[in-house]
Amino acid sequence: MVNWQEYTSLLRPAKILICTLCRARPLGYNHLPMLNLYDLNYPALENLLQTWGFSPYHAGRIWAYLYQEQVDTVAVMTDLRRDLQDRLVQDTAVPLPHTRLDTHSSDGFTRKFLLALADGQTIETVLMGFKGRATACVSTQVGCAMGCVFCATGQMGFTRHLSAGEIVGQVLFVDRLLQETSQPRLRNIVLMGMGEPLHNYEATMTAVDILTHPKGMAIAPRHITLSTVGVVPGIIRLADEGRQVRLAVSLHGATDAERQALVPPARRWPLAELLDACRYYTQKRKRHIFFEWTLIEDKNDAPEQAHALGQLLQTIPAHVNLIPLNPTPGYDGLPTARPSVKQFQAILTQYGIPSTVRQRRGIDIAAGCGQLKVSDIQVSGVK
Ligand code: SF4
Repeated sequence: MVNWQEYTSLLRPAKILICTLCRARPLGYNHLPMLNLYDLNYPALENLLQTWGFSPYHAGRIWAYLYQEQVDTVAVMTDLRRDLQDRLVQDTAVPLPHTRLDTHSSDGFTRKFLLALADGQTIETVLMGFKGRATACVSTQVGCAMGCVFCATGQMGFTRHLSAGEIVGQVLFVDRLLQETSQPRLRNIVLMGMGEPLHNYEATMTAVDILTHPKGMAIAPRHITLSTVGVVPGIIRLADEGRQVRLAVSLHGATDAERQALVPPARRWPLAELLDACRYYTQKRKRHIFFEWTLIEDKNDAPEQAHALGQLLQTIPAHVNLIPLNPTPGYDGLPTARPSVKQFQAILTQYGIPSTVRQRRGIDIAAGCGQLKVSDIQVSGVK
């Protein structure tokens, strides 16, 4: 019988899932934590097998079951030696999130899910399909502590971090859906759903390890984009660890005062410090950064603000994504009108800064981060 200490000492930083299945076990059975196998990166699974007295060699077959065959239960891992399979059945689980809401945008490009986790918490996952290229936008936390004023997730506050397995579970959920409908496998992921990924660094990076591992989902690291509101220690750590994922930094303001009015963490990490970290990242990783700029009418869309942004990014290899605001009930801002968006973009071009205007797809299904969860809470009262 496995014990808690054994898990936590060997599998750090993997998180433990308290499996709801235990409730169905006979009276008298100890209510032990079930280990979520999706929480384990490859070395952690090899370590676990060795601790149990099995060869780490079996990790390859177990991962083939998990990520190629994508089985629903460890009970079907019948190729494994019997005592190992018994141990897995006894002590582990492979829980995937369940659909609570499934919404399709009228333009057919976006499908947004509210997914329920094992403890009943809900998160949002979005499938975006453009020209046969599917992208999953996944969450890294339930809620978010960053409190960006225009964001529905920020307005609901922070509940808890997701485990690596809960992040990976969203990707598997979307990939299965694509396979069921005979579409190409999922190859692009953006960590831009609910939560700040660098506030949940360990679990997020364990998930990235699993998603990019050749025996895991084998997704190219350059096809994973991590979006941060500007958590400076996390950006430096990404650079130092040589992480290959693409980095997007949400700016939204080109002065400390304007940025702090929209993004509260800007008080902790002022622009000068943030841009130093960005420069460090680009020098060390030899790649540019995407800077996200949510365009809000009369807040940050004036020509002088575009000039300020252009000047700010002069010394950093940058690409700016301009995103007209997705309106939320909790914030009275409006999206910038198209002519002003074009004018803003033209000014950035004068500074030699490439930019893209991101389309506001899926507005009719509340595709902005956190909006579907908020509408579900309003209808059902369930958090
Ligand atoms: S925009 Fe991102 S970082 Fe800001 S509150 Fe929303 S989820 Fe959190």
